[in-house]
Amino acid sequence: MAIRILPPDVARRIAAGEVIERPASVVKELIENALDAGARQITIEARAGGLGLLRVADDGSGIPSAEVELAFERHATSKLACVDDLATITTLGFRGEALASIAAVSRVTLYTRWRGEELGTQLELEAGQVMLRKPWAGAPGTTILVRDLFFNVPARLKFLRSPTGEAGLIGHVVEQIALARPDIRFRFLNEGRPTLETPGSGTLRDVLRRIHGSAVADALVDLDEVAETCQLRVHGLVGPPTITRANRSGMAFFINRRWISRTPLGAVVEEAYRPALPPGRHPVAVLHLELPPAEVDCNVHPAKAEVRLRNERLVHAAVHRAVRTALLQVAPLPEVGAPLVPTGWGKGRAVTLFPPVDHIQSGEADRVFPRKPVVETEDPSAAVATSAGAPAAGADRPVFRPTALRPVGQVQNTYIVAEGADGVYFIDQHTAHERILYEELLAGRSRPDPPSQALLAPVVVTLSAHQRAVLTEQGEELRRLGFAFEEFGPDAVALRAVPPRLAGADLARAFRDAVDALSGDPVGPDGTDRLLATLACHAAVRAGDPLTAEEIASLLARLEETDVSRYCPHGRPIVVHLPVAQLERDFHRR
Ligand code: ADP
Ligand code: MG
Repeated sequence: MAIRILPPDVARRIAAGEVIERPASVVKELIENALDAGARQITIEARAGGLGLLRVADDGSGIPSAEVELAFERHATSKLACVDDLATITTLGFRGEALASIAAVSRVTLYTRWRGEELGTQLELEAGQVMLRKPWAGAPGTTILVRDLFFNVPARLKFLRSPTGEAGLIGHVVEQIALARPDIRFRFLNEGRPTLETPGSGTLRDVLRRIHGSAVADALVDLDEVAETCQLRVHGLVGPPTITRANRSGMAFFINRRWISRTPLGAVVEEAYRPALPPGRHPVAVLHLELPPAEVDCNVHPAKAEVRLRNERLVHAAVHRAVRTALLQVAPLPEVGAPLVPTGWGKGRAVTLFPPVDHIQSGEADRVFPRKPVVETEDPSAAVATSAGAPAAGADRPVFRPTALRPVGQVQNTYIVAEGADGVYFIDQHTAHERILYEELLAGRSRPDPPSQALLAPVVVTLSAHQRAVLTEQGEELRRLGFAFEEFGPDAVALRAVPPRLAGADLARAFRDAVDALSGDPVGPDGTDRLLATLACHAAVRAGDPLTAEEIASLLARLEETDVSRYCPHGRPIVVHLPVAQLERDFHRR
C-alpha cells in the first residue's frame, strides 16, 4: 500500500488512544481540569464501568462562553503561553489534548458557566463534531458528561476489563487524586452508590481513613523532612512494617501534588523498609514530594503518568533517609502478650545463669563472667513462641531502646535471656546477630575502603556459567563489601579476602549465595539488600549454637549500638519483651 496521510478523523482517534486508554484515563483528565480550574468540590459518577456514562462536576472557574468550542480543539489550552512555560509547569494539564481526545471517541455534553458571566453554555459533541450549542442557566462551574466511550473505536473495547474491573480502576484514580489533594472534597458514585467521599479538611490522614479505614490510618506515622541539597521537602504518612499489602497498591507518590503512577520511588521506599518487611509484602506509604517546578520535567509521558527529576539520585537518597528515620521511631517491639501459665515443674529445661553485672561494654566482655552455674528452671520459650508473631498495630507500643542489658542466660542454645530497665528480654541469637552484621555491612559498604580480611590461603570457589556472568557484571558490588577475588581457571574464582565478619563461615557457600543474591534483578536497591541479608545470615551464629558468656555479652553490647534492632533482615522479630508489669500481674503482686 502506498504511503498516504491519514484522514484527519482517523489521526484524531489514534492520537486519542495515547491519552485516553480507558474510562479511568477520562476520569483522571477531567478531574485534573477541575483542579486546574480551582474547584473546591468535585463529584464523579460512573455507570457501566464508565463506558455507559461518566460525569464529572466541579465548582471551578468555568469556561467563558466565547472559548467553549476552542477548549475541544487539539492543542488548545489556557495553561501555556509559550514554550518557556513548559519548563515551569504548575498546572496539571498543559497539552491541550484531553478534551479533544475524549470528544473524538465518545458523545460529550458540556455544561459550563464562567464566573464572570451571567449565563453559561451547553455544548454537545459526537465524535468530536459539535452537534448542539445553547445557553445554559446554572451555577458557576463545569459539568462534563461522557457517554458511549469508544463507540467509534470498538477495537479499544477488547482491551478493557469487565465493567466492574473498569469501575475499580476509576475508583483507584479517584482515591489517588484525593490523596494528592486532601484540601478538596471528592465524591465518587459508582452505579449511583457513594463509593468514596473525602471531607476536604486538608489533612492527608482524613483521606486515608476513607480509603483504608481508621485502623490503618491511625497507625500511620507522620513524616516531614527537608533535604537542602536537592531543594526537596518530602512529607506524608508511612505505615509501620507490621501493616503490609500483597501488592504495591498501598503506596502512592505525588510530586508537586501531581500523582505519579509510574515511578521508581516505590522501590526506594521498600528498600528503606526492607529489613523489617516480610518477603513478598509491601508497605503502606503516601508521600508528597515538593520541588521547585524547574527541577521536574512533566512533559515526558502522554498521560503524564511519569516525570523526570533533574536530581533523581539525591531525591531518592533523601526519600530513603526520611522513610528510614520515620520507621526508626515506630518499628514495634514484639511483646509477650499472653500471661505465662505454669506448665508443671518437672518439664523445665536447662538455663545457663550468669551473675548480675551493672554495665557491659564490648571490650569488657571477657572479664565480666567468671563462671556459669547451670540450674533447672521453667521453659519461658513456650510463652515466647506464642507471641513472637506480628505485634498488634496501634496502641502504645514501647520503643525498643536496648540499653544496659544484663545477660541472664541462654535458652535452648537459641534464645538469649537478658534483663533490661523494664523487664525481661528474650533475644533470638541468630536473628539478632544477623541484624547487627547487616547494619555493619551496610555501613562498611559506603566507606571508600571497606573493611576486609585477607585469607591466609585463597579459597577456590567453582561457579556455574550463570553465576560467572553475574559476577562479571556485578562483581563490583561484592568488592565494595570487602571481597577480593580473581579468576581461577575456566569455571572458578580464587577468594583472597572477605568481609571480616565472614571469616568463620563456609566461605565457598557464602560466596556462591552472595552471587545468587545479586542475580535475578539488576543491582537495584533490592539486589543489594538481598546480598547484605544473605551475607549477614551466613556470618551470624546459628540457632542451636551454644554461646560463651563473652559471646553473649558482646552480642548484647553490639545490639545496643545497632540502629534498627527489632527485626532481622528477613523480617522476623529479634526481641520479645516481657515487661515487669506483666510479671507482677502474673504473680498477683499487683
Ligand atoms: P489542558 O488541560 O492540557 O489545558 P484540556 O483539553 O484538558 O487541556 O482542556 C482544554 C482547556 O479547556 C483548558 O486549558 C481549560 O482552559 C479548559 N477547561 C477544561 N476543563 C475545564 C474545567 N473543568 N473548568 C474550566 N476550564 C476547563
Ligand atoms: Mg486537561
